[in-house]
Amino acid sequence: MRIGALEAGGTKMVVAIGTEQGEILDRKSIPTKTPKETMPELIQYFKEQKIDALGIGCFGPIDLNKNSSTYGYITSTPKLAWRNFDIVGAMKKELHVPIGFDTDVNASAIGEATWGNSKDVKNSIYITIGTGVGVGVLINGKPLHGMLHPEAGHILLAKHPEDTFQGCCPYHGSCMEGLASGPAIEARYGKKAMELADQKEVWEITGFYIAQALVNYILTLSPERIILGGGVMHQEQLMPIIREEVKRQLNGYICTKQTDDLAHYIVFPQLNDNQGILGCIKLAVDEITKEKECE
Ligand code: ADP
Ligand code: ZN
Repeated sequence: MRIGALEAGGTKMVVAIGTEQGEILDRKSIPTKTPKETMPELIQYFKEQKIDALGIGCFGPIDLNKNSSTYGYITSTPKLAWRNFDIVGAMKKELHVPIGFDTDVNASAIGEATWGNSKDVKNSIYITIGTGVGVGVLINGKPLHGMLHPEAGHILLAKHPEDTFQGCCPYHGSCMEGLASGPAIEARYGKKAMELADQKEVWEITGFYIAQALVNYILTLSPERIILGGGVMHQEQLMPIIREEVKRQLNGYICTKQTDDLAHYIVFPQLNDNQGILGCIKLAVDEITKEKECE
């Protein structure tokens, strides 16, 4: 089978073709402009590739409730051109194939859980720390949806005692994304995160916030593995700081084999930046199965 995958992001759309075994046969990147400009390019690609199904991992917020009249829409996104855009409907109308749909971070969580670093557990979370912060949550092997879907990059955090930066989230100021995303680091220090690699205090403060968020996710979701991806995590020096801070902030309250072995509990992705695309492929494969069951 030829499975189409679309990782829909605010700056670029990554499209790919793969097999149900997780082999990637082709991929390309298309800049995200407006739906009117970008959708025809995406549709043309998938038509030429003659796909049997499509999986979409999408920036959000999005409507994932199949009983809702706006299922498949990008909803209250700050990216105005895409607000209230029916991305699944627009694809379905042209491609006539089963379409799996979830958040970009749930797709990455699914990719890692199918072929990567969380394939041995049923409950895991995938956190991307990049332009924004997003959290994909898998419970009993399934992505967590609810009223909407988790938006756990926007949880409120206590400030580091030495941090005078107010936070840059336009909605919440000092939420996780407002304090620890790439743009937050840049706004705090007036330099791109990448250019601050040798400034120890930058990573101590950033690691403090990431760890604090992880402690909150550990306490509320009880994941069996935590995967940390996204541009900011390219600063690999963050990982030991985060593990140490998680231990310090949990303060001995939780004692499990996972918290005793943080090096295998809090880890990098395994799929070399293909976790999102591979997760989309799995979403498409699962959608084919679901549609067969309904026949
Ligand atoms: P996006 O979140 O837009 O999909 P990324 O995950 O690559 O894309 O995140 C981009 C953000 O990550 C930018 O704010 C950038 O400053 C930051 N970033 C990218 N590479 C690095 C790096 N090597 N070190 C620190 N920060 C980085
Ligand atoms: Zn926020």
